[in-house]
Amino acid sequence: MMPAMPVPGSADLFRRAIAVSPGGVHSPVRAFGHVGGSPLFIHSADGARITDTDGKTYTDYCMAFGPLILGHRHPHVLAAAQAALDDGWSYGAAEPWSLQLAELLCDRIEGVDKVRFVNSGTEAVMSALRLARAATGRERIVKFAGCYHGHTDSMLINAGSGMAGIPASAGITRGVATDTLVLPLDDTAAAEAVFAEHGHEIAALIIEPLPANNGLLPQRIEFLSLLASLCQTHGALLIFDEVISGFRCGFDGMTGTLRAKGADLQPDIVTWGKIIGGGFPVGAFAARDELMNHIAPAGDVYQADTLSANPLAMRAGLATLQTLLDDDLYTALDELGARLEAGIATIAGLNMVRQGSIFWLTPESTPARDEAAVTAQHRDVYPALFGTLLQQGIYLPPSPYEVCFLSAAHTAADIDKLIAALRVAV
Ligand SMILES: *Cc1c(COP(=O)(O)O)cnc(C)c1O
Repeated sequence: MMPAMPVPGSADLFRRAIAVSPGGVHSPVRAFGHVGGSPLFIHSADGARITDTDGKTYTDYCMAFGPLILGHRHPHVLAAAQAALDDGWSYGAAEPWSLQLAELLCDRIEGVDKVRFVNSGTEAVMSALRLARAATGRERIVKFAGCYHGHTDSMLINAGSGMAGIPASAGITRGVATDTLVLPLDDTAAAEAVFAEHGHEIAALIIEPLPANNGLLPQRIEFLSLLASLCQTHGALLIFDEVISGFRCGFDGMTGTLRAKGADLQPDIVTWGKIIGGGFPVGAFAARDELMNHIAPAGDVYQADTLSANPLAMRAGLATLQTLLDDDLYTALDELGARLEAGIATIAGLNMVRQGSIFWLTPESTPARDEAAVTAQHRDVYPALFGTLLQQGIYLPPSPYEVCFLSAAHTAADIDKLIAALRVAV
């Protein structure tokens, strides 16, 4: 779709944006710092395509960094959002849509009795950590280098995504930094050592069960199981941050995928975001009754939001999750992923790590399972790969650290075009 009115091109808009916003953007990776050049300003989107203000259309493999598993403007989500607009979009009061969404989650997700909706993945993690500290009476949190858990202070140490390669954000107190213990992924000895030394002080261990913010780093089941048993032995809570993997690797997230492979894993608290809002700002955290009853007004852990469980976002999220279930889309998404995998296997010098409809392209033939997976060579070649694909009408995430997403709107023909474009690029 061409813009109806002539709109200034991306380069002009970026020059203006730099003057009025830090780095010209409202979230760092959007600035194209890892790929160079001026970021695209997107004017509209539909299905698997985005169109920029210059009127150029691209097949999108970023998909808003994950929420749009159904594609842009899916008819069911569009209808739900339009109905919500007709009914008014914010009441600051109880409404039936968050109830329906909460019932769906409590019904379907193992280990979840109660859920609280918030406005972002960051808020979900922030509140989950507060809950863990209150429930255990302890202060320290274990996280993993390369895992990204949003921008709450205690998680901005050795994080992934836009923080990859940066030791810590400025502006964080020494106290917060001391309370965060950072471990390397896939390192059994380091995990055992930190619990041996600090076990009695650790409120929670938080991990992405499928780390997907520093490349895609599927973990060994034995490693995740060891972490779960260390938490249990030392009375720490296990938090699985499924903000990116929830409803993506199957409806029950990476936890469900691992359980289907025989892993006996059950997080104490799970965090969600991205897909759960269908492209609108929603996050959530959930756990068993014993834990969730600590949350205000049931308990004394305060958590509140003016706009939480916003009816527009709740109805869009509900439509998204319901469509995933009704249309049983995971098999089709996996088939698309497998088609891409088979195509990429025929391209020398390019490899792919995939879990369902999340994938990551890398020049390395044996990618590591820790933050070293993004090598200097990868960082060097990524701008050219990104640029060559852009010229061919394909939009990848503008950073080698970010993963790519397939949606229900992508077709086999899109995949074949991507494979052909990658062959040219490599
Ligand atoms: C995206 C992400 C977050 C942060 O979510 P926001 O909605 O951007 O605040 C947290 N954890 C993980 C695993 C994520 O991928």
